[in-house]
Amino acid sequence: MRPLNRKHFFLQEFESGVKEAGLFIEKNGSTSFFYMAPLKTEKACLPCHEKQGYKEGDIRGGISVTLDFMQSAHFGTLLLAHIGIALVGLLGIFISGLRLDRAYAIIQRQAAIDSLTGIPNRLQFSEHIITEFERSNRDQGPLSVIMCDIDNFKSYNDSYGHGSGDKCLRQVAQEIKKSLTRPGDFCARYGGEEFVVILPDTSHKGALHVAEKIRLNILNLQILHEKSSPLPVVTLSLGVAISTDQPLISHEELLKNADTALYQAKANGRNLVESIISISDTPLR
Ligand code: GH3
Ligand code: MG
Ligand code: MG
Repeated sequence: MRPLNRKHFFLQEFESGVKEAGLFIEKNGSTSFFYMAPLKTEKACLPCHEKQGYKEGDIRGGISVTLDFMQSAHFGTLLLAHIGIALVGLLGIFISGLRLDRAYAIIQRQAAIDSLTGIPNRLQFSEHIITEFERSNRDQGPLSVIMCDIDNFKSYNDSYGHGSGDKCLRQVAQEIKKSLTRPGDFCARYGGEEFVVILPDTSHKGALHVAEKIRLNILNLQILHEKSSPLPVVTLSLGVAISTDQPLISHEELLKNADTALYQAKANGRNLVESIISISDTPLR
């Protein structure tokens, strides 16, 4: 008896009720999948096939299809290539993310720091004073502002040149920064040769002490300024404004008071600290 080929074998299976069949075929190192389904006699087939003895529902043959599979080595290469592409893509996204983060940090820093002196600029000060004002209101604590202005700085530039003027501004800014010791203390370049200091939760006595310390530290730098008065070195005049009791005066008023006190220090001869304390809306000299 001849051995059954796969089609005949499946046809026999269909006769015994199997609905469909398939098998993998290995040949010459490649794999294919053979699929077969029964072809049943339908009503439309009867005019031609009834005389051959077929009735409706009889299995009259089968339909088969053979699908070639990729060689396993080929598939592996493709898989590796896809993983490689995915990894390169992820690495690219990661590196771009890092670069964006760095660029964002640089832009943020440039927007907040004065490029000449390296301390915060007026923009950062404007944001910081609001934050500190709100905090002081919440904590029911005092808030102080010190306005500092280099004395006779125009004549310093005129005598020693703009480059030396810039160097002097850097030294003064760094010295003011060094004079502040509490973590909450803040200084910024307010503009030109003016600097501003915020002292949160600091008493009247404490604020005057800090202002005096700044004045002395600048004096002790002993930066020669022969045309200045009252001394032939770079000096600072400082105006201190303190709001002690609740409700605190607004930060705009606080700044205005600091400016007024600074004007007084200039009028009284420079290289001086003057102050204005505000108690519940009433400034006291
Ligand atoms: P006062 O004691 O009354 O404050 O006199 P002053 O000369 O310091 O004040 P004035 O406002 O007349 O002059 C300020 C000078 O500060 C003028 C300007 O050339 C100088 N200045 C402002 N910004 C800069 C800067 O970025 N670099 C340099 N080198 N000088 C600056
Ligand atoms: Mg000025
Ligand atoms: Mg000045």
